[in-house]
Amino acid sequence: MTRLTAIVKQKCPHCRQGDLFVKKNPYAIKDALKMPERCPICQQDFRMEPGFYIGALWTSFPLVISLLALFSVLFLVVLQIDLYVFFVLIAIILFSLQPIIIRLGRAIWINVFVDYDPEAGEKEASQRDLRV
Ligand SMILES: [Zn+2]
Repeated sequence: MTRLTAIVKQKCPHCRQGDLFVKKNPYAIKDALKMPERCPICQQDFRMEPGFYIGALWTSFPLVISLLALFSVLFLVVLQIDLYVFFVLIAIILFSLQPIIIRLGRAIWINVFVDYDPEAGEKEASQRDLRV
């Protein structure tokens, strides 16, 4: 699994096996952004410091701008729809994609700070065996 697929699949950046979010469904209204404290596979800390994911605004913002540019070209240049209709459509689209955008922003943000270790999951498992 590459870093990109780990981000898209929202996996732990350290072992790329554990899930970053408790619920798979980004539209699970109550727990959409709920993350475990640690990776269930390699024990990587997902909350490295208080307010860590405030920085994810810097990674979700370019996603929103990219989508805005893409839909602008599609609606205004290719389909040539009315500007007022475009504003309503783009508001609906971006609002409905928010849970996915926020999750991707967080996944990119934690990938900036945590490096991949292919043996991370196995190391944690062997240490767990030694403790027992
Ligand atoms: Zn992990």
